[in-house]
Formats: sequence, C-alpha cells, structure tokens
Amino acid sequence: MKALTWHGEQDIRVEEVPKPELANPTDAIIEVTATAICGSDLHLYNGYMPGMREGDVLGHEPMGEVVEVGRDVETLEVGDRVVVPFTISCGSCWFCGNEMFSLCDNSNPNAELASKAMGHSPAGLFGFSHLLGGYAGGQAEYLRVPYADVGPVTVDSDLPDEQVLFLSDIFPTGYMAAENADIEDGDTVAVWGCGPVGQFAIQSAWMFGANQVIAIDRVQERLDMASDHGDAVTVNFEHEDVYDRLQSLTGGRGPDRCIDAVGTEAHGTGLEGVTDQVKQEMHLQDDRPHVLRQAIKCCRKGGTLSVPGVYIRESDNIPFGPLMNKALTVKSGQTHVQHYLDPLLEKIEDGEIDPSFVITHQTSLEDGPEMYETFNDKDDDCIKVVMTP
Ligand code: NAD
Ligand code: ZN
Repeated sequence: MKALTWHGEQDIRVEEVPKPELANPTDAIIEVTATAICGSDLHLYNGYMPGMREGDVLGHEPMGEVVEVGRDVETLEVGDRVVVPFTISCGSCWFCGNEMFSLCDNSNPNAELASKAMGHSPAGLFGFSHLLGGYAGGQAEYLRVPYADVGPVTVDSDLPDEQVLFLSDIFPTGYMAAENADIEDGDTVAVWGCGPVGQFAIQSAWMFGANQVIAIDRVQERLDMASDHGDAVTVNFEHEDVYDRLQSLTGGRGPDRCIDAVGTEAHGTGLEGVTDQVKQEMHLQDDRPHVLRQAIKCCRKGGTLSVPGVYIRESDNIPFGPLMNKALTVKSGQTHVQHYLDPLLEKIEDGEIDPSFVITHQTSLEDGPEMYETFNDKDDDCIKVVMTP
C-alpha cells in the first residue's frame, strides 16, 4: 500500500509499505478515506521529536471504513465508518477509567523509554515516534487500530468526511483547550496561534461563555479566518506589541484566560528589543519560548493558562517566578480525545459547528510531501490539508 514515510528533517516520501495486519484480537484494520496533516506533524517534519526512525509511517488524523476486525472486537463491524482518535488507549487502566485517555498506562509498548525521559509514560500515539509507541500512522491507505473498541467513533449519518474527520484531533483539542482554560461567562480569552488548533480553541471559547476572544498570529489569512469565521479581535504580533494591545482591550487588567495554541515552534523569543543590560539585570534568557513567556506576562493575575501547544524539549523552561507570583493556574496535555467524541459529534450533527471551515487544501496522498512543505511554510494560504488515499 502507499503511505507517507519519514526519512529525516524535511524529508517526507510516498512509499510502498506492507499493508498492516491484525496483530492482536482487539485490533481492527481501517481502509483510510481521509487523513489530515497536523501542526504536531511539523514537529516531526522539522526534526524536533526524538525517537523517529527512517521509514516510519506518519499521520494521526484519519478516518475510514472498517475492513477487518480481531476476534475480541465487540463494538465495530466490517463496513462501519469510523473516525480514529490520535490517542491510543486501552480502556481498562486507572487513567482510562478516569477518562484521561491520553495518559493510558498500557498503550505505549515503549513506556520504559518514555518513562526514562518523563518519569511516566503518556499514551501511545499513531505516527508519533518510537518514544510514544512506534505505531504506524494513518497517512496511508490502511491503518491498524489497536484497542478498536475504545477509540474509533462510528459515524452513521451521511455527513461528509470533511465535517467529521477533525474529531480525530483538532476539534477535541481546541475544545479541551477552552475547557482547560476555566472560562466563565463574560471572560476575555486570548488565543496565541491561529492554526487549526487555535481556530477550534476560538470556536470553543465562545461555546464556554467567553465575552471577548482575541486571536494572535502573524499570518494574515489565519488572522482573517479568526476574525471572519471566529468573531475574534485579531492582533498581528509582527505589527503591534501584544502586551500593550491586550492591556488596552481589557481595561489594563489582562485577559482572564490565555491559550497557547502554538507550542514549541514559536517565532521569536519575546525579548526582541530588550537591551543586553536589561536582560542581564532581570536574568532573562533567550532560549525561552516566546508564547509561554508572553502569555504569562499578559494574563491577568489569578487567571488561567491553557497549553494545548506541544512542548518537547527540556529547554522549554517556563518563567515560573512570574507565573507563581501572579498566581496563575496552568493546565495542559495531549487531548483525551475519546472523552469528547460523542458530545462533539452531536454538536456537528446538530449543525452547531461545521469543522470543515478550516480546510484550505484537499489533495491525494501522492501530493503529501509537497503539502508538508506548503503547510510548514504557510504558503498558498494553507491552513489545513486533507488527503484522500
Ligand atoms: P500550526 O503550525 O498550523 O499553527 C501554529 C500557529 O502559531 C501558526 O499559525 C503560527 O504562525 C503561529 N505562531 C507562531 N509563533 C507565534 C507567536 N509567537 N505568537 C502567536 N502565534 C504564533 O499548528 P496547529 O495544527 O494549529 O497546532 C498548534 C499546536 O497544537 C502545535 O504545537 C501542535 O503540536 C499542538 N497540538 C496539540 C494537541 C494536543 O493534544 N495537545 C493536538 C494537536 C495539536
Ligand atoms: Zn494532530
């Protein structure tokens, strides 16, 4: 079968690889009908994620038709149309029992390796390095889905793939980001990053009762989508000072809730224009990510910082002093996708939201390598790529 495979920094190829087979009685095999590229894939593309091996099959936002089920699978049948969460979860450990599916204790066969790096292992993820399980991903014609009774959600309605595909990741991710932000009626919510995750965080912030949503980015098409589709006030961080603008939009108090939908690959350090003398006096280091530093600085005292953006390296050190002294709450994590599938599918079926608004590029798997480049460079007004194998 054809699949998109990883071969090093900015080297993605379309290759013939063996078709997956059932490995365990709880597996299912899916014939993929639609599969997206995620901002998280860019961390692999740009070589930030450890544990990648040459030839790894990429992709964690797939849906398709069930073509085979293991003998212990009870909830799926051949022919079912399913969306597959990017988080692989056993459904029976303490974490799954508490609906913290992205922290599953049993789904990462390389847990020992991950635990050495992190103390404990999070769940295994599709197409996301051997540190997180080494599972082949869904940017392929077929996908093996472990624990098939726990993850995939069956879509019975005739909604097109484009409307339900993002249940696999970015819609629940934006939604959990807004939930984690503890939004209360009347709050001002600032969202850093107007990529797909930021767009769904904006949509979700309104659902949780925000009174004002402010979107920050530097890519004009993305800011336009945030204002036109997301009713957000926009701030282009290349043209204006983010702190000053957020202060003036909140009567000098700062946004109540701040969402970092950027993560480790932020542009800038946030220290542009600060003199060496001030850096020295204030012990400011250049290697800290821009967005966390800026969000902590901008957030109102006692506010909440929600971090769906992925951080990978230990050098992602957080300015904890200001965070502590401003009494901020921080919530973070990979999304517990399974927890959100039913309620968010209902919102789509009820017409409350049509997630396909983020799609700018629809193409074949063969165009994948070119699409990675386009999405990474934010060329051609690219916001979200969906491929049909
Ligand atoms: P994306 O790369 O398309 O979007 C990131 C956006 O951030 C871009 O538009 C970029 O211009 C903007 N940006 C860069 N520096 C900035 C700055 N200093 N201030 C404001 N904006 C800035 O990616 P995406 O698909 O939207 O994903 C966003 C993040 O969410 C990534 O880190 C991704 O790994 C993460 N993610 C997390 C989960 C989860 O489960 N927590 C799931 C999916 C994605
Ligand atoms: Zn993703």
